[in-house]
Order: sequence, then structure tokens, then C-alpha cells
Amino acid sequence: MPIDPVPGLLSRATELLESEFASLPALEAPIDTTAIGEVLKAVSHRLGDNYPYFHPLYAGQMLKPPHPVARAAYALAMNLNPNNHARDGGRASSEMEIEAVRQIAGMFGWAEFLGHLTSSGTLANLEALWVAGQLAPGKRIVGSEQAHYTHRRISAVLKLEYAEVPADRLGRMGLEALEAELRKGDVGTVVVTLGTTAIGAVDPLDRILALKARYGFRVHVDSAYGGYFQLIPEALESPARRAFAGVSGADSLVIDPHKHGLQPYGCGCVLFRDPSVGRFYKHDSPYTYFTSKQLHLGEISLECSRAGAAAVALWATQTLLPLTPGGEFARGLAKGRAAAKRLDGLLRSDGSGRFRPLACGAPELDIVVWKLGAETPAEASELAQDIFAACATRDLHLALVQLPLSWFQPADCDGSSPDVGLVTCLRSVLMKPEHDAWLERIWERLMGASADVFERQT
Ligand SMILES: *Cc1c(COP(=O)(O)O)cnc(C)c1O
Repeated sequence: MPIDPVPGLLSRATELLESEFASLPALEAPIDTTAIGEVLKAVSHRLGDNYPYFHPLYAGQMLKPPHPVARAAYALAMNLNPNNHARDGGRASSEMEIEAVRQIAGMFGWAEFLGHLTSSGTLANLEALWVAGQLAPGKRIVGSEQAHYTHRRISAVLKLEYAEVPADRLGRMGLEALEAELRKGDVGTVVVTLGTTAIGAVDPLDRILALKARYGFRVHVDSAYGGYFQLIPEALESPARRAFAGVSGADSLVIDPHKHGLQPYGCGCVLFRDPSVGRFYKHDSPYTYFTSKQLHLGEISLECSRAGAAAVALWATQTLLPLTPGGEFARGLAKGRAAAKRLDGLLRSDGSGRFRPLACGAPELDIVVWKLGAETPAEASELAQDIFAACATRDLHLALVQLPLSWFQPADCDGSSPDVGLVTCLRSVLMKPEHDAWLERIWERLMGASADVFERQT
């Protein structure tokens, strides 16, 4: 697979962009292309020291190559380097951001909302919890122990108290534990993760909304990784499907186009159900907001300068691949989901006892995790690391993750999971559409690597 699947795509578009500014006097640009060429040679060499993220045999972390149209549009915008802080810095790209964000909100069925892009999911979550804190000062934020670590840190930055509730054996927020926190009467916001970063677990948003009706609190949905699965409910099992069906009841929501949305880094998104929270952002800028009476995105965002190119790339991608159920983008997501289910199935039917998938159910989205069979957790952890390394020598790149040992022990799946420590497991995020077609080759390499490691052991 070529690193750049469509070389030359940019040059025609760049010519067109130049013609847009043709009325300006010509610019002399004395540039030493030889020197630049030398530096770029060094850059190419340095970049070779990376895992091959663009290749389907990279099946480790959440790393998905941006779509060629996103890359070309981003590079094209770089000729201008717009800044979406204000219309002065990015008139066209601000409009494109507003349109692209409206399409994302539309995917969740939100017609009325306030929202914008951010440079990351972390920043997007920070804004959501900041607004939550403004609305309920002194009240606590509660998330599951499997929520992204950023929530605890963000809460500390915002000086909001944060509490964790245990997860069940599938990594989903435990409802009894949540209700115990709610009974204390001081919970302002519950962070509901639709797609945890470790294993893609989907918190039961539908049932948490039922608790919201009883106890009254704000619901923030963190779907930085999982949000796009909203497009393929038919590919999900019913608990996850019911959870995603509840998003209209959330007060705020985060999704990362730079995770599953085929975008280069620097593209998160936050949405608020109630547009009037824009009042908390109110400020004046003596420098920027004077060329237009229309909304400047900096007026509803905590960040000032932001890459207009990120908005341009997102707009281009969603124009080519609209966020519609059954569309090409949705089908790409479904392929990764299918690959994950197949890998989980292969691990379960292996029969050798070497692989131990989650005891209480299959993956909910497109992340597969499994423990290695061994006498002790320490041995299982060591095996995971050895197989991880042996796969890499076969050009297959997986990831490692520390998970509660109890998730892999056969037990009462409705009961809470006893704390018996952590074990290092193998983890594979199958988020590229190509992973489906490559699964047999991935499996072959995993089997070869595992056989080597288990043989060495005996
Ligand atoms: C990745 C992730 C984040 C953090 O987003 P960044 O874009 O990496 O800053 C937050 N929450 C969840 C659930 C994530 O998967």
C-alpha cells in the first residue's frame, strides 16, 4: 500500500487556488529549493522511525490514516494557513467549520445546539466540564473507572471534585455504584463514555438518563472515540444500540474527528444541547472581532488560535463522505466492526486455551482485547509482552493494555467484578476499513508469533 495513495491530487487544486488570488501583484519568492530538498530528505529518513500507522498490519492503537481528501484539503488550506479564531483570520474556513459541525450535530439528531471544533478531545471535554461547573458550582463530576483519564485531570484543573464509580466486567459504568453516588445528592454531572478508550465499552446511557430523570444531574457524553458508531446501530448489540439511541437526552457531547473521522490530528468537537451556554464564553477582544458582525468562533471557544485547515479538511471529507447511515463512511466503520467481531470469534474458537477473550461478552465496537492463558497473572502479562514483540518482527503491530483480571475469569456476569488486580493483555483496534480484508493475514501472523512464544515457554 502506498503511503500516499493519490500522488498529484493537490497540484491541480493548488493551481485553482492560485487563480482565486490572480488579481494581486506577482510576488517574488526567492526560495532555495535545493536546501529545502536536503532538509526534507532528512525529514523522510527521521519519519521512517515510526510504526507504519497507514498500513492495515498496524492494528494496535487508535490510529487511522486521514482520508486522501482530508490530507489534500488540509495541505491546500496550508497555502493560506487560516485561523478560525475570528473571521479576520479565517472567513471561509469559519463558515466551513460551522457547516461541518452542523453536520456532526445532525448525525446525533441535534438540530439546535451550540458547538465548534477544538484542537483535541481533551480540550473539547475541558470545555464541556467547564460549562458543567459554571452551571452547578461546587457539585461533583462522576465518571466510570474506565472513563478517559483526562476527566480526572480536567476536573482538577477546573477545581471540581471528581469521583469514579466501578465498571462491570465489560468495562461499562456500574449502575448500582452510580446510584449510590447520586443518593449523596451532590453530583452535578455524570460523564457517560460511549466507547471507552481501552476496550470500546459503551456505558448504558439509556439507563443513566432514567436516573437523570429521578436524581437530576447533567449528562456529558464522551464519545471522542465511539461517536461515529451512531451511524451504524444495526451493527451493534442491543445494549450498545440502546445507549446510542439515547444521545438526544445528553446535555453535552464530545466527538473526535481525528480519531474515527478520517482527519489529521488537531480536530476534536464539542456540542452543547442548550445554545444559551454561549453566555459563559462571553468576552471582548480588542484585537479581533471588528471586521464582521457575524459570529466569530473565538467568541464561543476557550481556545483562541485554531487551525482553519482542520475545518477545511473536515468539510471536504464530509462533502465527499456524508455522515449518513448506509453511506460509504458508515460502511467503512461497519467493516472495522465486522473485523473486530471476527477476530474475537477466532480467539474464542481457537480451542488451544492460549487465548482468553472477555469472559462476559464480545467487543461492543471495534476494539478486541484478550488475555493469554497462563498459570499466574504475571506469566500471562509476560506472554502478552512477548507475543506483542514477536508480532512486531512479523510486521504485525498490536497494542498492550492493563485490564482487571476479573474480566477474564468465568463468573456471574451480572454481579460486580471483584478487585483481584490487573493483568497485561493484548489489544487490537481494528478501525481501518481495510482491516476486514486483512484479517486473515493478521490472524496468520498472530498465530505464528503466538506459536513461537508458547513453544519457547515449554
Ligand atoms: C481519545 C479520547 C479522549 C482524549 O482525546 P484527545 O483527542 O486524545 O485529546 C477522551 N476521551 C475518550 C473516550 C477518548 O477515546
